[in-house]
Amino acid sequence: MKPVYVDNNATSRVAPEVLEEMLPYFTERYGNPSSMHSFGGHVDREIKLARERVAGLIGASPSEILFTSCGTESDNTAIRAALVSNPDKKHIITSRVEHPAIKNLFENLAKTGFRVTFVPVDNKGLLDLEYLYRHLDDDTAIVSIMWANNETGVIFPVEEIAQTVKERGIVFHTDAVQAVGKVPVDMNKVPADMLSLSGHKLHAPKGIGVLYIRKGTKFSPFLIGGHQESGRRAGTENVASIIGLGKASEMALYNLDETETRIKNLRDKLEKSLIKTVPNSMINGDMDKRLPNTTSIGFEFVEGEAILLMMNELEICASSGSACTSGSLEPSHVLRAMGVPFTAAHGSIRFSLSIYNTEKEIDFIIEKLPPIIKKLRELSPFWDKKKC
Ligand SMILES: *Cc1c(COP(=O)(O)O)cnc(C)c1O
Repeated sequence: MKPVYVDNNATSRVAPEVLEEMLPYFTERYGNPSSMHSFGGHVDREIKLARERVAGLIGASPSEILFTSCGTESDNTAIRAALVSNPDKKHIITSRVEHPAIKNLFENLAKTGFRVTFVPVDNKGLLDLEYLYRHLDDDTAIVSIMWANNETGVIFPVEEIAQTVKERGIVFHTDAVQAVGKVPVDMNKVPADMLSLSGHKLHAPKGIGVLYIRKGTKFSPFLIGGHQESGRRAGTENVASIIGLGKASEMALYNLDETETRIKNLRDKLEKSLIKTVPNSMINGDMDKRLPNTTSIGFEFVEGEAILLMMNELEICASSGSACTSGSLEPSHVLRAMGVPFTAAHGSIRFSLSIYNTEKEIDFIIEKLPPIIKKLRELSPFWDKKKC
């Protein structure tokens, strides 16, 4: 059972079936897909199959799938492409709760002369749509809004947002890294121009991502060089990982049902039990509009880092805030944007499950965590004051 890994929004295990399909591409099938000989040509055909499988997962056509090196590259490529294609427009819009791959890029662009609107969220983490629509103008080059939040799991109404933004003739991108594989994603229904996903969040390896680019969308490559990916991204393909992502996409589609039932039930069991047994604990984010695998729980008057360390002793792997905020003592920008009180934001833990989690593991956390919180609170001066 060890480790008890409930940190799947940070990264996920490579599925054994995925690894098995990848292995030959490190050994006997090492050809370059761009080669003229059929030894390389075979590999090109396998990449084609992987592209079809990824397209199948999100209701796209294979020509709309661009393989990149990670979710971060997909996000950066999408935003840069929109800016290069609309050189006269200097206004960009995103939310206040994006992953650093978008957040830090937009902050960086703000320093180089772009006007940036960060759309706020309410205390349940839901987006202020009125605010977003009110700020669309003729100078807006792109709107980028994440599909699902990595810290709270809160899902935004991307279909509606995409429709409204497109009606204004503005480019729309969504970071769907956390959504793909956990909830249905169908590009036939959601009129977004671009969408990012990442392999290692859905049981493919780290270091492979996809940018979906809707047919007809103006595009400008980020990496210039060879003619790979139809000239949209130069560089010899990460063949084994592309093959792996193809298999993982096929499996994610197949496993979607289980994620939305068994995994959701385990998540619900975990959070219900913890909220019930631990006083002064609360769920961060909307309970309904949420990924089935994620829960963020604020335990008031304790340090999240301390909880993590004590869980680590028992080989329970979770995270406080986002992986990138861990290590700093500031509560995450997501919880701050939601106005989660400091007393709870500091003690917030994210549990994110996958199809590899078992009920036994969840029962183990339910048994071990409440005494940990109790012990830490007994040591906390803030908890003491509260009681007086
Ligand atoms: C993990 C993640 C990314 C970054 O993906 P990488 O492949 O690790 O670069 C981007 N956005 C969200 C929402 C994520 O969860």
